[in-house]
Amino acid sequence: MQGRTSSSSHWRWHLERSEASKLLSTAERFAALSRVGTALMIELDETRLLHLIAETACELTGAAFAAFSLRPMNEEGQPLVPSEGNLFHLAAVVGVTPEQEALLHRMRLGGEGLLAPIFRNGIPVRVADALAQVRRPEAATAANPAETHTAPTINRGATLLARQAAFDYAHGQLSKEDLHSLGVPRGHPVVRSFLGAPLLDHMGQVRGGLLLGHSEPDRFTQEDETLLVCLAAQAAVALENARLYRMAQMRAQQLDRIFESIGDGVTLVDSLGNIMRENGAARRVREQLKDSPEGQRVVAVLLHGPARQALSGEALQDVSVSVGNGQQEAREYLVTASPLRPPPRLSGPLVPANEATHPAQNGVSGAVVIWHDVTERHLREAERQARGHARQLEAIFEAMTDGVLVYDSNGAIVQINTAACRLFALDLDPEYVARSLEERLPLVALRNKDGQVLPKEQWPPLRLLKGEVLTGQNAKEVLARALDGREVEISVGGAPLYDQQGQIVGAVMTVHDMSEHRRLEEVERRAHEETEARRALLQLILDELPSSVYLVRGPDARLVLTNNASTAMWGAEWPYDQPMDEFFAQHGIRIFGVNGQPLEPSQLAALRAAQQGETVRQHLENIRLPDGTILPVLVNAVALDGHQLHVLAAQTAVGLSEGVEPAALVVQQDVTALKEAERLKDEFIAIAAHELRNPLAALKGYAQMLLLQTARGKGPPLAEWQQEAIEVIDRSTLRLVDLTGDLLDVTRLQAGGLTLHLEPTDLVALVRRIVKRLQVTTEQHSFSIATSLDYLVVPVDPGRLEQVLSNLIGNAIKYSPCGGPIEVTIGGDVQGNEVLLSIRDGGIGIPQQEQAHIFARFARASNASAHGIGGTGLGLYLCRELVELHGGRIWFESSEGQGSTFFIALPSVVDAASIH
Ligand code: ADP
Repeated sequence: MQGRTSSSSHWRWHLERSEASKLLSTAERFAALSRVGTALMIELDETRLLHLIAETACELTGAAFAAFSLRPMNEEGQPLVPSEGNLFHLAAVVGVTPEQEALLHRMRLGGEGLLAPIFRNGIPVRVADALAQVRRPEAATAANPAETHTAPTINRGATLLARQAAFDYAHGQLSKEDLHSLGVPRGHPVVRSFLGAPLLDHMGQVRGGLLLGHSEPDRFTQEDETLLVCLAAQAAVALENARLYRMAQMRAQQLDRIFESIGDGVTLVDSLGNIMRENGAARRVREQLKDSPEGQRVVAVLLHGPARQALSGEALQDVSVSVGNGQQEAREYLVTASPLRPPPRLSGPLVPANEATHPAQNGVSGAVVIWHDVTERHLREAERQARGHARQLEAIFEAMTDGVLVYDSNGAIVQINTAACRLFALDLDPEYVARSLEERLPLVALRNKDGQVLPKEQWPPLRLLKGEVLTGQNAKEVLARALDGREVEISVGGAPLYDQQGQIVGAVMTVHDMSEHRRLEEVERRAHEETEARRALLQLILDELPSSVYLVRGPDARLVLTNNASTAMWGAEWPYDQPMDEFFAQHGIRIFGVNGQPLEPSQLAALRAAQQGETVRQHLENIRLPDGTILPVLVNAVALDGHQLHVLAAQTAVGLSEGVEPAALVVQQDVTALKEAERLKDEFIAIAAHELRNPLAALKGYAQMLLLQTARGKGPPLAEWQQEAIEVIDRSTLRLVDLTGDLLDVTRLQAGGLTLHLEPTDLVALVRRIVKRLQVTTEQHSFSIATSLDYLVVPVDPGRLEQVLSNLIGNAIKYSPCGGPIEVTIGGDVQGNEVLLSIRDGGIGIPQQEQAHIFARFARASNASAHGIGGTGLGLYLCRELVELHGGRIWFESSEGQGSTFFIALPSVVDAASIH
């Protein structure tokens, strides 16, 4: 500022001198103006600047006084008020008395009257004589009557008076002191010559006005106006400069404050790595460090290293650096360094000399290094974690089922958990924890297992405090007395606590309640005994069972459990967990099917259940033992899921390996005796049927001979009753012959000795013949044969097929005791592979629940006997066997009380393979 003041006094002196001469040429005046301009450019204080401008205006134009008005603006240079209305304010005034200045300060200036063009439109105004416009007051009144009407009465008088005074003054009839200017208040300097110019900013907006006046007319020339306009333009620039400077100052100050108040250390270095600026935080750290060699090393790591890296053009982000040695508290910083690059220049060649001598490398002119102190954060984090751990430990300490006691080096209890208090019932003595070791231990009366009181040197806390470790194997089992008198058996463990120097500072002791342990041991033992007893009982039951029973698991059927009958049946002991095939191989055991073929493992009932989870019932297998004995057995194998086996194992102490495997329970019943009985029965039937044949043939022959010969008239005629008796004998013999025939057929079938004699047979003709034969035996039933065919020749055994059809049609008659229609149909299937026969009746039908077994030997439905209809139950059995021998099928549909339809399907072409 010093320089600026001296330069402003210089130009003032120059002007004054020029003013004194009063003979300045135009050129001199403009030269003076331009010099003033330079001075204005460097004056940055706004108040001084405004005065300077006003003074300069007076001096350059010879004005008696000058006022500088400004429009209120914000910091950014935006107008805050419109140019209309008297809203501008006086910023500087020169050439007036202090009273006048005070008056002027109170006035509001703006775009009204003479000032309107300046403020509103931004154009200069020059008036040679402001009072020349004032007309004689009377004339004015007469000339402008409208004005008389519009002006308020009071003001009108005042206006007239003012106008009169102005007129008088203008014509030299009134002294200056007596003049009351028109439109200007009392005390305002008289203005006759007026020159005003607007101050326009770079946008052309009116920023203010520079107003000059003189009490004499005609004082301002066109040149003055031009000068004033130029001055106003310079003033506008100077004011803008001042505003920008002020703003820049303010911003710089703000930035300074911010920079200083940043908690992180911030250092700016130049391109050579010298510190240009640093904030307080950075300075404090650096000053703390600078005196020791170690500190200097740290500064190198914290500052110089990162700065060098940034100067090489590479930024550094949040690199963690720890600072501190043994004495100093360790601090941790995150260091960030970034290169500073000057903004690109607008014009090239103007490079300052110092930059030219130290050209920046890689366009990097410096670097900024920031130290972010994270020590507190880390400390807080560590503290938080430590607190968390402490809480966890506390929770664990309390949650432990074992008692835990912490002692100081004197054996005083520092901490004790709830489990310990509960174990010794310490609540009964609130003072207990506060007592000394010598007082406490006799209270709990520690004894060894034999009941002898422990001598003091064996007291566990003392042993721990002497440095002994009593964990694991070294834990001591002792007896103690709880404060409520209970005897407790405890296992005591623990270890001493050391400080950093290795001194024992206390001990931790754990107390485990052995009575609970003993109780659990007892519970376990009892449970074991119980399951063992149950297992023995189960084994006993199993062993007493006459059938062989065994339990296997896994796909290889490893033995889990077996009984005596099973061992007896195999003739060998099957060891636990041995796979079935291994056991069989070891003892030469083989299994055959009913047909005498050896069974594949996958066909064995036990393996089917164990491998496929299939439950197999009543499966006949023949066990062949190494001595050649064959045992026919009926096997029932039930698949169990592994979980069931596990439950069983838990209850019976059957040992099981881990994992759930499928399992199977197998029951084998030796059916040798049954088989034998059946064989004997079949043999008996065969013999009986065979032996019956001859007497029956004789009976039948003689009966028929009697009837025939009598009919031919040979011998005496028979009485009627004799005739009837012989007919009954004949029919009964016929039935007996049929029955023995059936029985023989059955035994032949059993022995596999029944063979068919196939020959092309017309089924239509066969059916017609049978129907015709049977029709004569009944009058109640009406037969019909439904077929579209005249004949149907099929390769069958005609005798056997007649037997089948006679049986089925006979049944239709027999089981329709009330008579009714019986329909036989004959047809072929669509493909022509099969012929289909059906026999339909409207008789008693077969109950639903008995239908499944009706083809078995000797099977009869309950409703048949209920209706008093006799039979052997062999007919349908033989029908099925015979149809199947033909390679055909037989089935039926029936509903009780409504009738039955039996179907036969026979192959229309002989397939040798299909005929057994
Ligand atoms: P049975 O000598 O008893 O007639 P079958 O083997 O021919 O022996 O028939 C077995 C059983 O089937 C009969 O006892 C009877 O209960 C039933 N049955 C057979 N055919 C018929 C039918 N057409 N209507 C009702 N029940 C029948």
